[in-house]
Amino acid sequence: PITARVIDGRAFAADLRTRVRDEVARLADSTGQTPGLAVVLVGEDAASHVYVRNKVRQTREAGMQSHEHQLPAETSQEDLLALIARLNADPSVHGILVQLPLPAQIDTHAVIQAIDPAKDVDGFHINNVGLLGTGQKALVPCTPLGCLMLLRAELGSLEGRRALVVGASNIVGKPMAQLLLAEKCTVAIAHSRTRDLEAEVRQAEILIVATGVPGLIPGHWLRPGAVVLDVGINRVEREGKEVLVGDVDFASARKVAGAITPVPGGVGPMTIACLLANTVTAFARARGLPEPA
Ligand code: NDP
Repeated sequence: PITARVIDGRAFAADLRTRVRDEVARLADSTGQTPGLAVVLVGEDAASHVYVRNKVRQTREAGMQSHEHQLPAETSQEDLLALIARLNADPSVHGILVQLPLPAQIDTHAVIQAIDPAKDVDGFHINNVGLLGTGQKALVPCTPLGCLMLLRAELGSLEGRRALVVGASNIVGKPMAQLLLAEKCTVAIAHSRTRDLEAEVRQAEILIVATGVPGLIPGHWLRPGAVVLDVGINRVEREGKEVLVGDVDFASARKVAGAITPVPGGVGPMTIACLLANTVTAFARARGLPEPA
């Protein structure tokens, strides 16, 4: 039996953060300014607080400015939109991230559309969605961008490969499929109503899974040698302990796949690293400087 290469997302992300830090230092030398990222958190969601803490820490470690805005759970949409208008106008802010999910009284779409697309480092604004879909220069959502970097490192050119994205959310599945299409893969997208998921999975040379269903894909469904990226982050109980697992059954999948990301330590660490990279990209574009490599 083959044993899959386990893709070390932590090491890859650390390397990307180092490159971002070097780029930030170079930009600071040439422009006298450092990129700034504003992170907006509304309410008390525990997981969101952990994500935001990590984003703030890694932003600072990369030598960038972090502007944190923590607002109470009962914040009105009007007040949040007023803050976003201020951040849009603030020349020291180059990236704006509003941590999702937002409390129920706030219209998430309206908030995302209020962000200046040039500062939309999450890539969720419809301008960026449309630019990506039409093959133009966009800010690309961080998790799919991280997946693409891992795939390129693993495979080089993706041209002509058969790819399946399982999950069709606006933040992962759909932009992932657009990126793969732009790389000239033959792309299918599966979701909860897909009739025969096993048959779809079996054909995929590249498999990206983002459903939030723990262990949805067993190893025996995979095409031998497939490159498997598991985006899922699920808290489950195993032998009385809470552990994190992905959407792919890792133990059986690694016996069939050619390469696979573990959970944790695979795709997850790439997301924040790509957020930092997007902030540098937004800064460079705002100043008409060449795109960072
Ligand atoms: P959503 O809940 O927004 O979307 C889930 C998608 O999976 C939907 O398209 C849904 O189909 C599909 N789906 C659900 N059940 C099945 C099934 N049984 N078979 C096939 N498809 C199914 O999730 P997200 O995209 O936001 O997140 C997905 C996972 O990725 C989560 O575990 C999340 O925690 C993780 N995640 C990790 C990130 C990271 O690594 N940094 C970042 C973002 C998310 P339908 O459209 O029909 O409803």
